[in-house]
Amino acid sequence: MKYFLNLLSSIVLFILLAQVGRSAELAGIEIDCHKYYDTVTINTSEYIKPKVMLLDNPSRLVVDLTGIKIKTKTFPKIKSKRITKVRTGSSTRIVFDLAYSVDYEEASIFGQNKVVIEVRDKSRPYVHNLQEEPAADPVAPVMEVKKVAPQIVRVERVVVREEVESDNGRGGSQTRPYSKVLKGKIIVIDPGHGGADPGAFGIGGLVEKNLTLKTANYLVEFLKQQGATVYLTRKKNVKIDLAEVTAFTNRIDADIYVGLHYNATYNSRMNGTETYYYTARSLKLAEIMHKNLREKLGRRDNGVRRAKLYTVHHALMPAVIVEPCYLTNPEEANLAASDRFLKKVAAAVSDGIKEYFNGGNRKDTKVKH
Ligand SMILES: [Zn+2]
Repeated sequence: MKYFLNLLSSIVLFILLAQVGRSAELAGIEIDCHKYYDTVTINTSEYIKPKVMLLDNPSRLVVDLTGIKIKTKTFPKIKSKRITKVRTGSSTRIVFDLAYSVDYEEASIFGQNKVVIEVRDKSRPYVHNLQEEPAADPVAPVMEVKKVAPQIVRVERVVVREEVESDNGRGGSQTRPYSKVLKGKIIVIDPGHGGADPGAFGIGGLVEKNLTLKTANYLVEFLKQQGATVYLTRKKNVKIDLAEVTAFTNRIDADIYVGLHYNATYNSRMNGTETYYYTARSLKLAEIMHKNLREKLGRRDNGVRRAKLYTVHHALMPAVIVEPCYLTNPEEANLAASDRFLKKVAAAVSDGIKEYFNGGNRKDTKVKH
């Protein structure tokens, strides 16, 4: 009997140790400080579902990362108007002490093991008017985020069609038809997720990686028809490392990068279209892209948002990520289940790209020779 108990306790201990060994870790926290809001990005080694709460007396935002091991006890100081201090509350809780009471919006980035919390001033409207503030705010990293070293690129090339328009020798100005605006432009289309990384799961069995690929295929056709040189980061259900995508995009010196994603959250009422960018050079593309998505899809306008997502952060050219709708919202999941809607998304993105390269208008333009 004693032997049996010893054996049993050994098994229990082994299971406990296995649990400890498996627990996810906090990989880093970044805080981007803005005039009206701060973006807090919490990176973890595995996907987790955090619990975010605002508490009073004193004002603080707490984030419970259940199942996460927080090893760090102290966090360096940050330069934010509203977040005065970052500290640990308990073994799984991070506390953001606040200078005054705020609003917040939380978004888990599926497949990227990160939680993005926008902490914003109460007087600030929900949709940002990003033109009011400088896009290239200084970044205040709190902890280093683990970075993946770029490797050999496995990105597949779809088509190359570089047609240089013949010089008519007359000089002066000439009309460039709006339909020809994409000729020779190098565009990288990146259907989010793939392979072992499914991205978001939506209502009715929707899987983000499949929808992004379908949308990308429609989009490539639209862009090819207009003479663009298009690179698709994946043609199949495979996972391509984000660092590889970015390294490739930078190496070929693409004109723009467009990442395709579909959104998801735990709140099924959340719906609408968002467009993400990070660098100042990407803001114009983000705004024009967002306008086209809003007009053509007619979903709720969640605004153009600045977030430090890997590809848009590291791209050296204008780079955006589109999130046309929420797969976790019944109405939008129903839409996203139809190829017709995905094609509509592709058409909106294609129109956005076209308008961007035409300087933000939809007419034929005079070009100087
Ligand atoms: Zn995604």
